[in-house]
Amino acid sequence: MSSEQISDATIAEIEQELAGDGVWIDPAFARSHDISAADEARIEDAVATAQDSNLKVVLIEVDIDDERFQGSFTSLSAWLQDSAAEPDATYVGWEEWSEPSLSLQEFGDQPEAIYVANVANHEHPDAVVDQVVRVAELLDDGNAEDLWHEVPSDERYSWTADEGLQTSEVVVGIGVLAALVAVVRALVVWRRRRRLRPSGFTLPATVLHTVRSAEDRRLRQQAEAEVLALGEAIGRGDSGGTAAALEAWQQALDHYAAARSILAQDAAPADVVGALVLARRGEDARASAEERGSTAWEPPVHCWFNPLHTGPTAEVVWRDDDRAVDVPACAACAGDVRAGREPDDVLDFIQGDRTVHYFRLDLGPWSRTGYGALERDLLGALRRR
Ligand SMILES: [Zn+2]
Repeated sequence: MSSEQISDATIAEIEQELAGDGVWIDPAFARSHDISAADEARIEDAVATAQDSNLKVVLIEVDIDDERFQGSFTSLSAWLQDSAAEPDATYVGWEEWSEPSLSLQEFGDQPEAIYVANVANHEHPDAVVDQVVRVAELLDDGNAEDLWHEVPSDERYSWTADEGLQTSEVVVGIGVLAALVAVVRALVVWRRRRRLRPSGFTLPATVLHTVRSAEDRRLRQQAEAEVLALGEAIGRGDSGGTAAALEAWQQALDHYAAARSILAQDAAPADVVGALVLARRGEDARASAEERGSTAWEPPVHCWFNPLHTGPTAEVVWRDDDRAVDVPACAACAGDVRAGREPDDVLDFIQGDRTVHYFRLDLGPWSRTGYGALERDLLGALRRR
């Protein structure tokens, strides 16, 4: 259920409630998620008794067509934080991004929130009130990361696991029907994702920066989680078998090492994206090695417009100023290019007060190779940087 634009009057009301008991629940959200007055009181209690964090709960489904926030809870929380008097706060809200779920944004000196929403969501699926109450406990206990690692890996990321389904896995015996379901699901995820990222941000520069730093943090968390998962999978596996498998295993190790060394530094957002790309390639190489096949591993091709786009690609001709380049593009981006439009979820970074497409920036091997989309040997390009 989507509400209309979040008006200035509503923003003022949210700010007032947050300054009071720290909880604001949109009436339409309460109706669609079956939240009673007693439930709201439970949430207010949890916020009041939170020890270590300054919790702000804002439950609303931000509409994709909302002019200011464009479907993003991250943007809404950044906006609220920008005008709040307190420098430190953790916002708990509802993110429609990819899969609708509870989301946390920390600002300033607040307890580490990594894995907190994941654990709450895993323990109380589809029970948003229980999730919020659990978030408050987890932030105080500070044990979310440990709890998350106790969750069996196949239960962790249901949709990323689906999205990552590769042809090779289909071959080793997952049913074709399951594969089709996964592909359809991945398509839904893309569609949502790209609708949430319209071109041309309308937020003021200060809010743009706050939003971006929240997004950068989330990206970094995701990169750390995926690199960690790759390390664990490598630790559990063993090399051996064919020469091709040994070679793929070495590639997995090399990609893992490169991704880790990037994240070990205070990496810029463009480098964090690079680490994520390396981790995904490393995972692909690892999976290929475990199949012990006889064909040499090749890095998977990804979308040139945004290396984080998943799924099969097709070649398109991209005309930019006076040049025309053949580039691989995911289904969504290829569709846009063929229709004569610029894809609306191109990877971009902040420069000054605006966002710029990554390929118009000088990011060394990242922009030169399109994060490996144009020159497949990304590790080689990095070594030559
Ligand atoms: Zn794409």
